[in-house]
Amino acid sequence: MTTPLSKHLHALINATGPISVHRYMSEALMHPDHGYYRKRDPLGAKGDFITAPEISQIFGELLGLWLADRWEAMGRPDPVRLVELGPGRGTLMADAVRAMAVVPGLAQALDIHLVESNEALRKAQGKKVKAQWHDRFADVPEGPTLLVANEFFDALPIYQFVRTASGWAERHVTSDGKGFDWCLGPASAQAALIPETLQTVEEGALVELCPAALSITDEIAKRINSHGGAALIIDYGYDQSAAGETLQAIRRHQRVDVFHKPGESDLTAHVNFDHLSQVAQQAGAQVEGPVTQGDFLRDLGIEIRAALLCRRATEKQACDIKAAVRRLTAPDMMGILFKAMAIQPGDGPTVEAEAETSGAEPVQADASESPDV
Ligand code: SAH
Repeated sequence: MTTPLSKHLHALINATGPISVHRYMSEALMHPDHGYYRKRDPLGAKGDFITAPEISQIFGELLGLWLADRWEAMGRPDPVRLVELGPGRGTLMADAVRAMAVVPGLAQALDIHLVESNEALRKAQGKKVKAQWHDRFADVPEGPTLLVANEFFDALPIYQFVRTASGWAERHVTSDGKGFDWCLGPASAQAALIPETLQTVEEGALVELCPAALSITDEIAKRINSHGGAALIIDYGYDQSAAGETLQAIRRHQRVDVFHKPGESDLTAHVNFDHLSQVAQQAGAQVEGPVTQGDFLRDLGIEIRAALLCRRATEKQACDIKAAVRRLTAPDMMGILFKAMAIQPGDGPTVEAEAETSGAEPVQADASESPDV
């Protein structure tokens, strides 16, 4: 299927030869004029996919309470940067801020910074929260930082390497002028970043690598280590580095071929939490998790919060709330595939201390009693 971007890619490959998977994904998602994450709103029933904050307000509220708890633990800095990477429609941030407002002094301390590449989404976010926008996390002013990223890291371009008898080869994309196909080429220098545990995979195995995710995680870990704070990364992914392909394309809620309508289909890859965790620890930060999204939300009291909302809901609304909770937490839905991982300063509180403080919070935090699930 021809798209403005596929024309550009055919011309590019024609001129320069096959391009890396990384280049293909970068162009498909971030080309200034035709990239998927540049101009369109990909979310919701009319878009291509739906995310946790769009499924239920409870998701953003619980994340807000987790962040509020971290703020208290940091010694209540004022101001505190509240940063979101890839905020979509701004729904998570709006729900989180509403829940955080129950903690005295916190609402006034918040200085909100959004990292977003998409013009249409920046507009949507601006209708929901008062913030400053940036193209990259590195541009967010320094200071104590609370950060959240939901389904951001999966959208960053990956490399794919294949183990051959003579070392790593790199997967490339070639073109015959009409369609695209895979081919192998020499491995770029990035292959040196492949984690040690994957250096010994069997011949023919494919491994994925996301240098952008590694460098952003490194920046976040360093920022939090030197200025205090906490970061929460939620995404679909795996907690042990493993070989295998996870690159996928989604269009209108259906899985499609990776070469289908580039620029008009979402391209993502599973997040390697193991690798991100290593990088954050190397930067001197402490990492908690990853834990499954189901466990994370249950520990934060999703059942209690849902029961509270149901009390004031109509029968239909209560039904929707229960369905949303199931979707977010059930093992066969988002409960296990999605993971949550926290980054904290090297001398931050322990995992045990975390578990003690998180359980009962949502009961007190009745920021909004009107369900809008
Ligand atoms: N967090 C939101 C949206 C997830 S979709 C939610 O959960 O609903 C991915 C988001 O990341 C979108 O807002 C997209 O525009 C943004 N994004 C993707 N790649 C980006 C990049 N390289 N830089 C900045 N934002 C990016």
